[in-house]
Amino acid sequence: MAQVYERVALIGLGLIASSIFWASKRRDLAGEIVGYARSAETRETAREIGLCDVVYDDINEAVRDADLVILCVPVGVMGQVMEQIAGSLKQGATVTDVGSVKRDVIDNVTPHLPKGVEFIAGHPLAGTEHSGPRSGFAELFDNRWCLLVPIEGSDPDAIARLRGFWEGLGSNVEEMDADHHDLVLAVTSHAPHLIAYTMVGVADDLRRVTDGEVIKYSAGGFRDFTRIAASDPTMWRDVFLSNKDATLEILGRFTEELFALQRAIRQGDGDHLFDYFTRTREVRRSIIEAGQDTDEPDFGRGSGGTKS
Ligand code: NAP
Repeated sequence: MAQVYERVALIGLGLIASSIFWASKRRDLAGEIVGYARSAETRETAREIGLCDVVYDDINEAVRDADLVILCVPVGVMGQVMEQIAGSLKQGATVTDVGSVKRDVIDNVTPHLPKGVEFIAGHPLAGTEHSGPRSGFAELFDNRWCLLVPIEGSDPDAIARLRGFWEGLGSNVEEMDADHHDLVLAVTSHAPHLIAYTMVGVADDLRRVTDGEVIKYSAGGFRDFTRIAASDPTMWRDVFLSNKDATLEILGRFTEELFALQRAIRQGDGDHLFDYFTRTREVRRSIIEAGQDTDEPDFGRGSGGTKS
């Protein structure tokens, strides 16, 4: 595939940045990919494993001649990082991000945006519960959606170029409005994560009275919750604090449905439960038909293994 940008700078070198690097190298999407991470430890690891053509100790050096700068840090620090790099950005450059929340990131980043630099927010809907520079892999974005959220006045050519870059990384790209993005993600990702964190927390409390039985006999349902609940605490703290309204709205709906199911169980209303579970099974079928998960039993894990 043809080169899309001459020089790309990755700010933050964790799961998403390292996956962008390996996916980009697979198709030669950039002439050079440089990077910066906050801690010396992460920068050292990146150098050791060949993550980035050059790893800089100085964030401003990293972005200086970049045509595309990708902010791959937790959503709570996006604005602060943009403020730090604003003075070093090249005229005509595009800045984008990969944060899981969009309205809050746009509100915090755009006040620092210099004239002559584009900001186009983005969010690849792909990830794992692993984090850090060693966790990325080239296939992470294959056949996954990447949502681009242009801001008012975004240059159509810059959007088209960024779209081409994400398509080169393997993604299907669509544009979406920031508030709608945050509501959709509250339903599909943020609320489910909070519910998983809660369920594992409850089971952890129970474990103390059942002497390790929750772990010992952990079967499909609980084990799947623990995978999600192992996700990075910093990232997810920031997601909930930044997408407060949409998450609270969905959790309100969740609580109502939970009460309805609780009542159905108490009253022995089997029809209600059966109809409800039939509807949810359809949702699973649609996800498989859309190619967004495998139809294999137990997610294709085989006996006892785990999916990355
Ligand atoms: P990660 O593996 O934890 O990496 C985060 C990186 O950000 C690390 O290199 C870290 O540096 C750096 N960082 C943290 N705080 C910083 C600060 N105050 N200033 C500068 N750098 C800082 O995280 P990730 O999973 O790649 O997530 C990155 C972004 O992608 C987040 O906004 C997240 O919402 C979004 N996202 C994540 C997923 C997912 O499933 N993980 C999916 C889609 C989008 P050190 O290593 O030096 O601490």
